[in-house]
Amino acid sequence: MSDCIFCKIVKKEIPNYTVYEDDHVLAFLDIAPRAKGHTLVIPKVHAEHLLELNDELLGFLLFGVKRAQERIDHILQPDGYNVGWNHGEVGGQVVPHLHIHIFPRWRNDGGGNMHSIIDQSGDKTVEDVGKLFKT
Ligand code: AMP
Ligand code: ZN
Repeated sequence: MSDCIFCKIVKKEIPNYTVYEDDHVLAFLDIAPRAKGHTLVIPKVHAEHLLELNDELLGFLLFGVKRAQERIDHILQPDGYNVGWNHGEVGGQVVPHLHIHIFPRWRNDGGGNMHSIIDQSGDKTVEDVGKLFKT
């Protein structure tokens, strides 16, 4: 998409600090890092979120995440990671081009885990919700 900032990064119209790149995927350092080595992994084709991404590219994207993590592991040697993505405005997504965040983590760095994102399970029990998924 011509006005998409991450498409511009893919086309090298905007510079980036590349962590990993292949034909399908680009991984680069986040410009406003929340951890040392905070990296974004994106598909080279424009897709706003996961549900828009062609199934055939899913494997390539996850492959890119692994390759990027291997590089971060080798260069920065973190003690752990959080890996995930914000989906949609309510999920905190600001840039509308699918990107997977890799947060390298260090012991006693003061950060949380995935569970610290949200703790509002709502007015239904897990059994109630489970019934909705029964076919
Ligand atoms: P999100 O809230 O998941 O949409 O996060 C978007 C991320 O993109 C933020 O962490 C930004 O710091 C990062 N970002 C925005 N512009 C750039 C850029 N030109 N290069 C690298 N990272 C960027
Ligand atoms: Zn894009």
